[in-house]
Amino acid sequence: RQPRQRKPDWIRVKAPISKGYHETRKLMRDLGLNTVCEEAACPNIGECWTKKHATVMILGDVCTRACAFCNVKTGMPRKVDPLEPEHVAVAAAKMGLEHIVITSVDRDDLPDGGAGQFVKVIEALRRTTPNTTIEILTPDFRGKMRAAVEAICAAGPDVYNHNLETVPRLYPTIRPGARYYASLRLLEEVKSHNPLIFTKSGIMLGLGEQRLEVHQVMDDMRSADVDFITMGQYLQPTPKHAKVEDFVSPQVFEAFGSVARAKGFLQVASTPLTRSSYHAGEDFAQMQAA
Ligand code: SF4
Ligand code: SF4
Repeated sequence: RQPRQRKPDWIRVKAPISKGYHETRKLMRDLGLNTVCEEAACPNIGECWTKKHATVMILGDVCTRACAFCNVKTGMPRKVDPLEPEHVAVAAAKMGLEHIVITSVDRDDLPDGGAGQFVKVIEALRRTTPNTTIEILTPDFRGKMRAAVEAICAAGPDVYNHNLETVPRLYPTIRPGARYYASLRLLEEVKSHNPLIFTKSGIMLGLGEQRLEVHQVMDDMRSADVDFITMGQYLQPTPKHAKVEDFVSPQVFEAFGSVARAKGFLQVASTPLTRSSYHAGEDFAQMQAA
């Protein structure tokens, strides 16, 4: 396959100019919160922020890893902000969120990998906005996974997401700091602590993966009892990042979605612009109502 960098028509990004977009931006600035929407240069920011749906990124904006696909800054992270859990809760209350997605940078420097801050954020949200459903998207907590997952599951998020990101063959180049089977074990571990928590995982397409490799990832996720899957097109955030090997057509995304549904996932999102948190609230509400 020839590398092709020009974006096809189906990846259309609307300019973020709405009132809702500016209000969301101001609220995040005022509360000193980071969002993965901005840090990861997400193409859906115009649509999501207009609808006041943002994914808050806790534990700072500097990551201790450097994945080849990710636009988040890397280096020595800052101190953990003790006011952050309350600020996240205030943001959720002001935005009137029915569903919130919380993620973080990877904090290999912290003794608990940052799990304690996830717990505090969940607790602050439960106090302030008890009706908001909580979805967390965590790192792999390398070397500290068992204790981290145990603590977070005890706090009781509604959805626990951890992305596999790509097929195992591409890990050494795309996700060099992580191990595929360790991430799968994390997802299994969540279910073993609390089977009532929905588990979710996702991969990016367009990094050079083969069709059967994607099917195998789905099988691995189902073996780990993962409930929800997301699949979206990888987009190269800057020329320094991994190249797009292929722009996968919407029809191929739809075909992968059908395969995923046949494999028994409760919720499947598979389109070029799908991201872990894209329409997460709507999809979760729909699934609960079904
Ligand atoms: Fe933010 Fe997720 Fe929407 Fe992207 S898809 S703008 S990361 S909420
Ligand atoms: Fe980005 Fe997460 Fe990798 Fe850090 S661990 S570089 S935030 S994908």
